[in-house]
Amino acid sequence: MSVIDSTQVTVDRMRATGDIKERVAIAGLIRNSVEDDGITKACDNCIYFLARREWCDLPELNIPVDPDWYCDLWRV
Ligand code: SF4
Repeated sequence: MSVIDSTQVTVDRMRATGDIKERVAIAGLIRNSVEDDGITKACDNCIYFLARREWCDLPELNIPVDPDWYCDLWRV
């Protein structure tokens, strides 16, 4: 399964529940960044991060997050 396919599966699972705690768990949100192939992946450098509000703007999450957190839906 490609990264795009697995991301879509994750988003579809999140959309299937109205429970924000379950959505957070499905997204794999963790309270630290991740090192991957020499890249630090964190909310801080994700396209969904609104820095001034410290907010995740991904519609399926739409919650406050810290810059140094990470989830499986991280994108640049
Ligand atoms: S999608 Fe994930 S990594 Fe990106 S800002 Fe939201 S919680 Fe952080």
